[in-house]
Amino acid sequence: MSYPYEAPVSQELFDRAAAVTPGGVNSPVRAFRAVGGTPRFMVSGSGPYLTDADGREYVDLVCSWGPMILGHAHPEVIAAVQAAVARGTSFGTPGEGEVALGEEIVARVEPAEQVRLVSSGTEATMSAIRLARGFTGRVKVVKFAGCYHGHVDALLAAAGSGVATFGLPDTPGVTGAQAGDTIVLPYNDLDAVRAAFAAHPGEIACVITEASPGNMGVVPPLPGFNAGLKELCEADGALYVSDEVMTGFRVSKAGWYGLDGVRPDLLTFGKVMGGGFPAAAFGGRADIMGRLAPAGPVYQAGTLSGNPVATAAGLAQLRLLDDAAYATVDAVSKEIQGLVGAALDKEGVAHRVQAAGSMFSVFFTDTEVRDYEDAKKQESFRFTGFFHSMLAQGVYLPPSAFESWFVSTAHDERAVERIAAALPAAARAAAEAHA
Ligand code: PLP
Repeated sequence: MSYPYEAPVSQELFDRAAAVTPGGVNSPVRAFRAVGGTPRFMVSGSGPYLTDADGREYVDLVCSWGPMILGHAHPEVIAAVQAAVARGTSFGTPGEGEVALGEEIVARVEPAEQVRLVSSGTEATMSAIRLARGFTGRVKVVKFAGCYHGHVDALLAAAGSGVATFGLPDTPGVTGAQAGDTIVLPYNDLDAVRAAFAAHPGEIACVITEASPGNMGVVPPLPGFNAGLKELCEADGALYVSDEVMTGFRVSKAGWYGLDGVRPDLLTFGKVMGGGFPAAAFGGRADIMGRLAPAGPVYQAGTLSGNPVATAAGLAQLRLLDDAAYATVDAVSKEIQGLVGAALDKEGVAHRVQAAGSMFSVFFTDTEVRDYEDAKKQESFRFTGFFHSMLAQGVYLPPSAFESWFVSTAHDERAVERIAAALPAAARAAAEAHA
């Protein structure tokens, strides 16, 4: 596929970036490797729109990979940040902002009886795993293929499928020892989890799962899957760890827990709770959290944890996220899902739109996607044509067929109309694409 050379300033910046940063980006998916072409360097955002370095405006359906649920530069979030910045940017002491953000999270998510703030989702899951091992005195961790929990060494193992496959590291730099205690299982397969517990009784510290996966595209848990995980964990004395970094405060006031009511022992949060700043958290049962230093022996710390600017942004954002806000994002998400489905139907393109709350993604396949193997069977070459057509028409989608799309309360009628206008040509491009 050839790409129109339509972003010369971004291209120039990308060339400069490549000289000082591996691959020209600070997080791999930003490099457009899955779809090709020039990554757009964004210079500003306002509501549902992003503007790139070439001066082109896009309707943003990435929303910074989830955090910007109120849209870009929301005036109340910006005001809270400006007020916090004016008071100083980091003290390395306790501060009221982190208490207030902790209280807000605990009030929203009932199983999070206590929380510890960190700076990224990766740190949150890494710390939750350490705590689960410290609390149970066990070493093995169960994760699911296609679930992403950040770049934690022990969790960068998704290779292999089938029952009790021991994790093989997915990347050089992760040793067999680091990944060897990770058991990778197919998602949505309770029999596989049952078999893993039977093979390793009393050895599994925790099962970690995305509350509703969004990192292999959106693949919600089948009815009863999360409840089954919780039951199996309880029966063996393992902890059920729900990774709500993506779903937390996005799919409801209380995240996925607010929708399925299955009570995790530990939860992890990030993205929305930081209001666009690096803030994340892990939390859960008070007796488990009480094992963390300095209350207990499991060490965990962070120079910038609970940073006053990040907590001010997160708190301002969360306080604006009431029931009406969730109803708005759910409605706009449904509308866009319907438009995408109709456009692809019209061109006869096999597809499935799968959603979890306002998160959704489009799989180019006609069968339900229940796990990573299903997701990989889609005709992702069709996404490439679809993506570039949307981009050329001013709609910014995640540059991969295996990512969730995100909307915000700021996605108004005008933004939706722009998406609707772009879809017919993009659907045609998908129809005409070939591998
Ligand atoms: N967990 C989930 C479910 C995620 O989606 C992500 C990031 O996308 C992470 C953890 C890691 O978060 P971060 O990128 O902030 O380290």
